[in-house]
Amino acid sequence: MEQHLPLAEPYRIKVVEPIRMTSREEREMLIRQAGYNPFLLPSEAVYIDLLTDSGTSAMSDRQWAGMMVGDEAYAGSRNFYHLQAVVEELMGFKYVIPTHQGRAAENILFTVMLHEGNVVPNNMHFDTTKAHVLHKHGRPVDLVIDAAYEPGLPLPFKGNMNPAKLEALIAQVGRENIPIVMLTLTCNSGGGQPVSMANIREVREVCRRYGLPLFLDACRFAENAYFIKQREEGYRDKTVREIVKEIFSYADGCTMSAKKDALVNIGGFLALRDQDLYQKCSVWAVLFEGFPTYGGLAGRDMEAMARGLTEVVDEAYLASRIGQVRYLAEQLTAAGIPIVQPPGGHAVYLDAGAFLPHIPRDQFPAWALTVALYLEGGVRAVEIGTVLAGRNPETGAHDYPRLDLVRLAIPRRVYTDRHMDVVARAVINIYSRRDQIRGLCFTYEAPVLRHFTARFKPVDAA
Ligand SMILES: *Cc1c(COP(=O)(O)O)cnc(C)c1O
Repeated sequence: MEQHLPLAEPYRIKVVEPIRMTSREEREMLIRQAGYNPFLLPSEAVYIDLLTDSGTSAMSDRQWAGMMVGDEAYAGSRNFYHLQAVVEELMGFKYVIPTHQGRAAENILFTVMLHEGNVVPNNMHFDTTKAHVLHKHGRPVDLVIDAAYEPGLPLPFKGNMNPAKLEALIAQVGRENIPIVMLTLTCNSGGGQPVSMANIREVREVCRRYGLPLFLDACRFAENAYFIKQREEGYRDKTVREIVKEIFSYADGCTMSAKKDALVNIGGFLALRDQDLYQKCSVWAVLFEGFPTYGGLAGRDMEAMARGLTEVVDEAYLASRIGQVRYLAEQLTAAGIPIVQPPGGHAVYLDAGAFLPHIPRDQFPAWALTVALYLEGGVRAVEIGTVLAGRNPETGAHDYPRLDLVRLAIPRRVYTDRHMDVVARAVINIYSRRDQIRGLCFTYEAPVLRHFTARFKPVDAA
């Protein structure tokens, strides 16, 4: 019987960046020198870098060509007007403030909207969003559906907010203490899980009833839209652009990290519907970022961003992007490896607790798995587990998270499916002799954000 042609990358490669595979002996030395902390490895010691999908995209020839037509005027750069036109066409927001990255847009928005003691509901706050709410003395509250915390439960929209929880929160703290409701698309902290259109509509309806503005943390809006097309009743025949337009039609504005779904290495923006709010925000944009038509970016950066936003909604691109993440996940699942199901839009998460049940949590099984992955294949992944979670400030004990995970974040358009084969094989090899993997203990631990600088040794080492 004839078979479908395989889905290959919808681009050909015009520029290459050589990467080098090290020997196992070299990697043993390199990771020891790095204190068994992959963050402390030089990038050149890494063969396949899955630390993050943020700012790691490969730009297209059109984006690079756009870098040469940067208009570096202080005010009114033509690239700003291009960016503004693309955002308005795609998302329907008239007002755009470029920022140097996503968190800068959060800083401006929360400076204007948040007052001390305010509560901010979100399906799940991303770290920087949470930190900015706290910085303004607000209280971030996560209202994602309970299923988001069940790694084995393969539901289509595990990023959804529970609207009943939102209503209950409003009743509890009072609508006057909630300046803004947010939805994060896709839900990064929940594993890149999408939010359904029905859920966005439901949340919008609650907001409308109480007169609350709805903002989107829109970093992965195109990936979310593609999942809606694939998984939600009634959207199969709509284009991704139509779906994107509908998503944003329910929102009053968004914060955006262009390092994700704008396919650039740096940049972000705040987009708004309301002129009044825009004017308030631009005052702070000048203070924090720069004049509102460049906001911490060069003209050429805004051009690359405008072009990237156009490319990211291309359905062949999205099929390949989401397909590559799924391709890796399917190989791992077929080999019986415990991962968070279903895989998200930008990453596969290994369930290290289930992978290495013989390593006690205070010997950091997920961290030990990142070290094993580097030793096996020169692959760099990131621990989302006990080391990242830190200590309880009151008791000083480890603040154990619900799960010890390892995130394999896939950069956009950077690696081929063949690289994914290498990653899958490395994980499968480790799994076949997982009982030999040992835990780790600290030799240095910083008081805050310990994962970035910590140093370890294997527990059985002298
Ligand atoms: C990356 C990210 C941010 C912050 O963006 P930066 O560009 O890193 O400042 C905010 N929210 C989510 C969901 C993100 O993934």
